[in-house]
Amino acid sequence: MSSDLSALITPASVQDIAVNRQASPKESVQTGKAQEDKVQKADSHSNGQRSSEQVTKARLWKPRQVLFTPAALEEAWGQQIYQRVSGLGLPITKLKSNRITGLRGKDERETYARAKQTMAVVTAPPGQFKLQPIPPSADWQFHLAEGCPAHCQYCYLASSLSGPPAIRVYANLPAILENTDRFIKEESASTSFEVSCYTDPLSLEHLTGSLGECIRYFGTQPRKNLRWVSKFNNVEPLLDIEHNGRTRCRVSINADPVSKGFEGGTASVRDRIQALRTLALPKAQGGGGYPVGFVIAPIMAFEGWQDSYAQLFEEIATALDFECDLTFELITHRFTAKSKQVLNEWYPNSELDMQMDSRTTKRNKFGGIKYVYDKETTQALRKFFEKRINQTFANARILYWT
Ligand code: SF4
Repeated sequence: MSSDLSALITPASVQDIAVNRQASPKESVQTGKAQEDKVQKADSHSNGQRSSEQVTKARLWKPRQVLFTPAALEEAWGQQIYQRVSGLGLPITKLKSNRITGLRGKDERETYARAKQTMAVVTAPPGQFKLQPIPPSADWQFHLAEGCPAHCQYCYLASSLSGPPAIRVYANLPAILENTDRFIKEESASTSFEVSCYTDPLSLEHLTGSLGECIRYFGTQPRKNLRWVSKFNNVEPLLDIEHNGRTRCRVSINADPVSKGFEGGTASVRDRIQALRTLALPKAQGGGGYPVGFVIAPIMAFEGWQDSYAQLFEEIATALDFECDLTFELITHRFTAKSKQVLNEWYPNSELDMQMDSRTTKRNKFGGIKYVYDKETTQALRKFFEKRINQTFANARILYWT
């Protein structure tokens, strides 16, 4: 965690917490001794029950305040979230109107700090029901929430969301899920949906249960498939869901210099890889039996990148020492003038390389300019990654490089 982040993330905002899939929300948030007890208890399980390797020591976010709008409290799913967060003993405010106010501080840094410790439970606005395509990842994207409790210094949300970066979670989940019916591609056997690329959906699961409900729903939908990605590791609540192979779970990982230098408030890369192992293990072995994938992003050409990324692939190979349905998605680092400006305000001491004159430019589909690595660097990175993956994971598929 960088020095500028340590000022923003207080001990109360991110805690090491033990998670057990059978636990109620209240039971699932605990610290220290209770966590050790739970892991030891799991160690003693036998006869096909989950072994200690699946009892993950998860890093769970605890907002400083939880706001509920009146409209959110009218929703059954909103009430379910209310029960969860009140069971966790989090401070709750019931708002008088459906507008979220009071998040602005005296400057961008203070606004950032205040907003990032706030979870607002709201209803998804009408615009969220007109789904947008998200190539090359999936046919469509839809959202369970917007805003993320983690603190990645390269975060693409910096230029995607407007206003203070509070975490807004949606209470009208059944309507959001049913709406996906309207976007089934008649010509395709299965239409793909990426869920929640404007947050980290697993980071909020202990507070909302929305990702699990989404996976359960897609398990009943023969013509749709779901994809989600996370930098967290609290996967225990997802292991017993009847997903019927229709959800691909991915974790986003990176080499140590990137993850340790620029990612705050997330699970460690080691823990994310172990979480994916647990998701991929067959159910008979205590896992989730899911199709899985790694998103390696943002790939950076720092000094010594070959050795660091080679080490990452060795760690993946050690963890996934069994047959599984595995994919890779490879995304190089890029930024825009706007994201650079916002990120510089949020993380003024960051050492992230965003020098425009050492990059080349590309236009996105809306005509905006993004700054990417030059052709020579991109080709060297791509050759390295594709060769390593093909050599090490014979049955894995690379879905795209961008
Ligand atoms: S986990 Fe993803 S969405 Fe959250 S801060 Fe990091 S990059 Fe942004």
